[in-house]
Amino acid sequence: MKCIFIKKTDGKGFDVFALRDFRKGEIILRMDRSDIITKKNESKMSKDDWNHVNFYGYKKYFRLKPPEKFINHSCDPNSYDKNGILYAIRKIKKGREITYDYSINGVENWKMVCKCGSKKCRKIVRGKFSSMPAKLQIKYRPYLEDWFIEKEKGSARR
Ligand SMILES: [Zn+2]
Repeated sequence: MKCIFIKKTDGKGFDVFALRDFRKGEIILRMDRSDIITKKNESKMSKDDWNHVNFYGYKKYFRLKPPEKFINHSCDPNSYDKNGILYAIRKIKKGREITYDYSINGVENWKMVCKCGSKKCRKIVRGKFSSMPAKLQIKYRPYLEDWFIEKEKGSARR
């Protein structure tokens, strides 16, 4: 059963909304991780393509497909993705926009201006997880993927 839908919103592109209520911890969707970015096809990636990728390992990316491709960032997200599965962080009411925080599991050094409108908005969102406020890093800890934690342990040893 389809439980989310994509809607075009004025000037902002596409957003993704809940078609029904989700319980805390419930799976919202499983991402299609089949379109792996390799050394071979990397050169064909446009700047916009790079804006729609996600991780499956350290500096390993796959191209996002719809609908997950259209899920926006929020500094107060109601979902998170772990190993390609998107879970509800809290109860999500039918009709609410689905969002996640792009900095979770982030290792790249990018930044973007955020207008998510949440009270917790960081204004400037940075790609690296380690650049997030310490309090948030603690809160988001359970959402980190295994490869990220392994990598972190590795760099602490050095
Ligand atoms: Zn924000």
